[in-house]
Amino acid sequence: MKSKIWLSTPHIGENEIKYVNEAFSSNWISPVGPNIDKFENVISDYLVNNVKTCALSSGTAAIHLSLELLNVKKDDFVLVQSFTFCGTTNPVSYIGANIIFVDSEKITWNMCPISLEKAIKDNLDKPIKAIIPVHLYGMPYQVDEIKKISIKYSIPVIEDSAEALGSSYKSIKCGAFGDISVLSFNGNKIITTSGGGALVSKNTEYVNKAKFLSTQARDSAAHYQHSEIGYNYRMSNVLAGIGIGQMEVLDKRVHQRRRNNHRYRQFFEDIPGITFQTEPSNDFFSNYWLTAIIIEPELTGGITREDVRIAFENENIESRPLWKPMHLQPVYKGTQFYGEGVCEKLFKNGLCLPSGSNLTNHEFERIFKVLKKIFKK
Ligand SMILES: *Cc1c(COP(=O)(O)O)cnc(C)c1O
Repeated sequence: MKSKIWLSTPHIGENEIKYVNEAFSSNWISPVGPNIDKFENVISDYLVNNVKTCALSSGTAAIHLSLELLNVKKDDFVLVQSFTFCGTTNPVSYIGANIIFVDSEKITWNMCPISLEKAIKDNLDKPIKAIIPVHLYGMPYQVDEIKKISIKYSIPVIEDSAEALGSSYKSIKCGAFGDISVLSFNGNKIITTSGGGALVSKNTEYVNKAKFLSTQARDSAAHYQHSEIGYNYRMSNVLAGIGIGQMEVLDKRVHQRRRNNHRYRQFFEDIPGITFQTEPSNDFFSNYWLTAIIIEPELTGGITREDVRIAFENENIESRPLWKPMHLQPVYKGTQFYGEGVCEKLFKNGLCLPSGSNLTNHEFERIFKVLKKIFKK
């Protein structure tokens, strides 16, 4: 069996182990310590825009705390991009709030401002507490349009930037746009702490409160005293060490992923029926975390997404259909959805190609060999 080519794997630089060793030699093997503070500062400095950062155990935990900070309660309503990973939606359900799913637009594949506004107008009598758009696969959503609607109706935005660290919109980094923003450092993301996440905001009160809530909401007293329910969501100081090292190579990783994307584009240039998730203008800069394509069988001479995926699988190469829209998931059956079925169509024909920043030339040769055979190039 040939060695496996994965969709996206961790890509560690030279210094991560040094910071981890520092945690060991100073015995800060805990969810508190100097690496955490440093990691948070490095992220805030990278994102600019006056933001502050709270490092957490996962991106999902960051979404959960964001909802808590915005005072989202059981039976409230949250407007969520349907085309996403369950990490976006699960925390809304932990709280027992209602979700209204919003479709994507065709341009960025992210939250459609028109469907969003319709969903709000139709539900003005309901307590809508937050909007959660996502920069899917690293592509910035239409930040200005969503922001306008957020301001018009006074509904805060939780920016899910889990896949978009290193991306930007109008030269401002993704992760710096939301009333609260969320990052993930899971193993498959553009940089990783093996598992981890962060909550980011310009609002220092939110960030301080997130630090408080993520460490079991302990009041300042010598004994353990609690006036609120907290969580055990803080990042470990050991893992923050990996994160500091990874931030040093982030721009390199963005470059490598964008180069992968370019390679695929060149390959498919003369093949009809293949389109890419693409930056619509110079305002949008994607980290191209994953290269995502649409395969239209009417134009490829009948070749389908599944044909390509299975051909890869037979050569031990991982590729993956696009996220299955959450409003189509069994667990969210019967949940309201506003849209025209754009994300359903994307899901039907879409495929994520192997996109790791550490893919070798030899691995690309194997990938292109499969594609050449199937597209008779
Ligand atoms: C990865 C991801 C999350 C959750 O992050 P975890 O760190 O895995 O909990 C949330 N939203 C999106 C869009 C993601 O891709």
